[in-house]
Amino acid sequence: MKDTPTFRLIERISNLLRSEERKQYAALGLQPVHFQLLDYLTRCNQFSNTLVVVAEYLGLTKGTVSKSIQLLERKNYLLKLPDANDRRVTHLQITPQGEQLLNNIRPIDVFAKAQQSISNQNLNSLDEALHAILCALQKANNTKSFGVCHTCSNFIKMDDHSLCNLTQLPLNEVDSIKICREHRLNPAILNTLT
Ligand code: SF4
Repeated sequence: MKDTPTFRLIERISNLLRSEERKQYAALGLQPVHFQLLDYLTRCNQFSNTLVVVAEYLGLTKGTVSKSIQLLERKNYLLKLPDANDRRVTHLQITPQGEQLLNNIRPIDVFAKAQQSISNQNLNSLDEALHAILCALQKANNTKSFGVCHTCSNFIKMDDHSLCNLTQLPLNEVDSIKICREHRLNPAILNTLT
């Protein structure tokens, strides 16, 4: 698949927001699908809030959705209500606790903070803006940056080659544009975000 820096940045931001959400789900004993199910219930109409339609929307089996519904019902995040005209049909309704959960767990806050921290910068391109948002999110979440090598504080540029100060190994041009799990964003870049 051919991709671009823009695609990579959007993918990384998206992964970071999802990862932040997952941490919150795990603390509550929930999984992403539970959030998606509740979120769907806040947006669907009265003809679309049955188990069958939810399964269709989420692209999951009825069995999987049924287990999620049971768990959410036990935790008081949704209710099952019989149809007024057809008792064979059961509607799903999010509870006030479920709505509160959604409001608490959405990553809007962290994203808004990141946006705010870059609002005074002169950003000349979409990639620059995305890169700045990504850095601000990583800083806010204290997560590993997984950045490209040449933006790392351990990256030392020399005349004919580069060096990793952490491993003391030489880095060639190809190495310098690869992402690294030991990446530590250069403070010079971080400082432009504060
Ligand atoms: S720690 Fe990783 S990203 Fe940083 S300079 Fe060394 S190889 Fe590059």
